[in-house]
Amino acid sequence: MDPFDSNSSDRANLPRNMIENSMFEEEPDVVDLAKDSTAFPTFPALDPDEVVYEPRSSRLLVRGLGENDMDEDEEDCESSARLLGMSFMNRSSAHRSNSSPYTRQAPPRSCSRPSARTMVVCVLFLVIVASMTMVLYFLPGCTFTRTGCRKANKTTPIQPVYPVSTNGQLFPWAQLRLPQSIHPLSYDLTLNPDLDNMTFTGRTIIGMSVLQHTKRIVLHSANLNITKATFKLDNEEARDVIVLEYKPRQQIAVQFTEELKAGQYCVLTLEYSANLSHTYDGFYNSSYTDKDGNKRVLAATQFEPLSARKAFPCFDEPAFKATFLIKINKKKEYMTLSNMPLAKSTPLPNGLVEDEFEKTSVNMSTYIVAFIVANFNPNSKNVSETLVSVYSVPEKKEHTNYALETASKLLEFYNDFFEINYPLKKLDLVAIPDFLAGAMENWGLITFRETSLLVGKQSSPLEKQVVASVIAHELAHQWFGNLVTMSWWNDLWLNEGFATYMQYMSLQTVLPKLDIGNLFLAVRFRALDKDALNSSHAVSTEVNKPEQVEEMFDSVSYEKGASILLMLNASLPGDQQFRKGIIQYLKQFSGLNTDTDDLWNSLTQVEVSTQHQNVSEMMSSWTSKKGFPLVTVSRTGDQVTLTQEHFLLTSDSATHTSSLWNIPVTYVTDNCSFAPECRQIFTLKTKSETLKVPESVKWLKLNYKNTGFYIVHYGEDGWEALTAALSNDVSVLTQEDRASLIHNIFALSRLGRVTFHQVLNLLNYMSKETETSPVTEALLQLNVIYRLLDKRQEHDLVARMKTRIQHQFGSLMDNQTWGEEESVSKQELRSALLGTACSLGKESCVQRAKEEFKKYVESNGTSGIPGDLQQVVFTVAAQSNKDWETLLSMYQYATYDAEKRKMLRGLASTQDARSIVWILKEGLKGDIIQTQELPLVISTVCNGFAGYLFAWDFIQENWDRLIEKFPVGSFAIQSIIKSATSQFSTQTHLDQVQGFFSSLKERGSHMRSVQEALETIRLNQRWMDKNLSALKNWL
Ligand SMILES: [Zn+2]
Repeated sequence: MDPFDSNSSDRANLPRNMIENSMFEEEPDVVDLAKDSTAFPTFPALDPDEVVYEPRSSRLLVRGLGENDMDEDEEDCESSARLLGMSFMNRSSAHRSNSSPYTRQAPPRSCSRPSARTMVVCVLFLVIVASMTMVLYFLPGCTFTRTGCRKANKTTPIQPVYPVSTNGQLFPWAQLRLPQSIHPLSYDLTLNPDLDNMTFTGRTIIGMSVLQHTKRIVLHSANLNITKATFKLDNEEARDVIVLEYKPRQQIAVQFTEELKAGQYCVLTLEYSANLSHTYDGFYNSSYTDKDGNKRVLAATQFEPLSARKAFPCFDEPAFKATFLIKINKKKEYMTLSNMPLAKSTPLPNGLVEDEFEKTSVNMSTYIVAFIVANFNPNSKNVSETLVSVYSVPEKKEHTNYALETASKLLEFYNDFFEINYPLKKLDLVAIPDFLAGAMENWGLITFRETSLLVGKQSSPLEKQVVASVIAHELAHQWFGNLVTMSWWNDLWLNEGFATYMQYMSLQTVLPKLDIGNLFLAVRFRALDKDALNSSHAVSTEVNKPEQVEEMFDSVSYEKGASILLMLNASLPGDQQFRKGIIQYLKQFSGLNTDTDDLWNSLTQVEVSTQHQNVSEMMSSWTSKKGFPLVTVSRTGDQVTLTQEHFLLTSDSATHTSSLWNIPVTYVTDNCSFAPECRQIFTLKTKSETLKVPESVKWLKLNYKNTGFYIVHYGEDGWEALTAALSNDVSVLTQEDRASLIHNIFALSRLGRVTFHQVLNLLNYMSKETETSPVTEALLQLNVIYRLLDKRQEHDLVARMKTRIQHQFGSLMDNQTWGEEESVSKQELRSALLGTACSLGKESCVQRAKEEFKKYVESNGTSGIPGDLQQVVFTVAAQSNKDWETLLSMYQYATYDAEKRKMLRGLASTQDARSIVWILKEGLKGDIIQTQELPLVISTVCNGFAGYLFAWDFIQENWDRLIEKFPVGSFAIQSIIKSATSQFSTQTHLDQVQGFFSSLKERGSHMRSVQEALETIRLNQRWMDKNLSALKNWL
């Protein structure tokens, strides 16, 4: 029986404005439906899950909507509103006279031509009728029942408002998060993918435990056509059940008339069919062309964060962990992979083969489940108790050796470091030809883009560095994320910040030759840049909507997360305390879910000295709010005063906060400034504190090696002293410290605390600089300004800037070689220097690059260009129409993906308008250029002058197709928006960007990256206004 269906016609007939207005009335408990009366519709019993429900939120939801604001919640609100209206109508029709207070009544006809006396009588009559109606209305519905009214229990929660399912019945759940009354224990999945028709069918058997009495099961499902559903409770017979679906929240539900009791075990079996997805998430199809030119198809999965529900109905939240038994029926010519090893293969009567995988030996969250149907070949090796295999398409098997060696070394490292062995018997790393993210840490079956896993014979150490970093990151997730998982996406940083930190930390130990430290330093600078914006967010931040979940995959979760872990580790006494804390955390919460406080508590518990400050106390100031501090140093004699404030890049003083951080400030002085022993620590917890240094000290440098997540301002004298010291002898500071000074002074210029003249003063020391980090940071910062000027068509300033860069870095550029280079650090240095030199048109560079390209073409690609210089060479080549065509045909036949990607970046760097338009279109189409590369294409096109406006038009025109390929809020969309808008600096462009995004409504207007884009344009505009005229004097 469905208790709601009979009322549906009433609901539909109610005028909408009336229903919504009635919801705004301030009378109490308008949704407190009279549960005890049989005269009223019976609603699902209140679950314990709903005790936290805020009764007024549904009303506020509707009230808060502006006239034009009815977006994705519209349907919810409307159905809620109808339901509320219905409850009023029922009450009034059952217990009151027909004169409903909700119908606007016309004045009685008898009063149409009234005498004065009739008037008075009429008015009196009306007042009486109205008053009685009001009294009757405000009396609770129970007044006239035999049992009367119960004493109101003020703490009783009020019934939530349910939306309407696709079949018209009420859907028995009204929240985005699933109820906690039922937990899944096991999934038994059978999948039948049909790669000829790009469809699949499936059967999911979910074993569940009832934790609290309830009358419903609610779980996730998206784009699945459920064809049959049966339910079995304890030892009862299985029976058919109706599945309700509420599509806006991707939820399905089964409603029961009898309560399921806490402690019971039940099984829900769902059969369904669906299309293989043509985007990059869910169970998606992918294809590639093999070496004989044949198109080969495959199917793979990408579930994080919200797409497991697109492959099978499930409780798709990270805290609902369960075991999985997976079976895939496939044609003989395909192989299959899943999280666990293959248990058996059984031929089926229909000619197919059923591959059954072992049941997972661990409880897993749904987002790390994975399966693949393809034709891949493995390259395997035993490491401790685990069989490690790297899979690729057959013709790329020879590119898998580096990944296999690296993964094996890192697995041993992590087993040892965490003191917990990797728990599965096998670990597969699979290179998928069509894959959007860099990689995905599915337990036991890590999937990668080909460029993140495959390394060719001619690969440079720099390419190996990329592959090793991604492997190190994904392997770290097998503990951080897979074994111990964040409870909800608000704490995604526990997964991503940790994996990012561990990736750098492990590689420094396991593969020190990769010089990963430079990369980590640059990553911390970029995290500071992003977190300086008002549109940034706290590391641990509230997440409610699906696109907010997608948006959590950003620089704050990954890079700021990793940066604050480094800061913590660097501030703890001894080098083992951090590790001990992590081991404690992993052991304590193995197989479970956690939030940020659990981590800090574990780290606090193992503290060696009680004098040391409490980790929770220190770290919560870094995870609970956005942004970071600016520490300003001022000095009088031996007194050094440190003052902190929020480093917030904004012109709006109203948004300044009084936030305080608990900062482990480190510093060195000219007495001792290079060696780690020189470092001193001082904790700055309050707004301002003073420390003492010997009067003879000439200068201080704070934030030793930039391990802290803050920016330092030294005041005019302080900067001058440091500039003088560096001009005198660059080696007084470590290269990290030099890079940190460069980063900080550019940031302060953006904040308006130093003039650009001061920036250029510091840069004067650069002619003596030879180390990678300071040079690459300075080039990056100067390039940002150069591009802004270029886009503003400030030709004179652009020319002067060119001259200045060439003057400052000219001899260093000339000193670079073009042959093979072993050191990663030197490769990074020369590719940055030569890349800049050639892009600025430095003749010697351009000439050499052209020669290299000619040799390369003549040898048909066999005479290799060193990997770190390929980008420079291809970019120069692409500037000539003839060579662009040559490069394009080489691109089409290239098989080695790292090289192919560099060719693509070269092609996209063309300044020929027709080619730019062509490449953008092809990137979206996905034939010659894979759609997964479109963000890269757009970002490269936007760097050049010729293409950046085309790209902006292209994005506006194709927005709907873009968000079909890349979900709203996803990292790809964030990157596209940033590339297209970050070089605008005029009011016209600000208005355009604002106008376009606000027109999108639910198709993306609320994204944080849109706020970030607008903020960035305003800041660019402000910087230009302030500095443009002065630049003419300084450059
Ligand atoms: Zn990750």
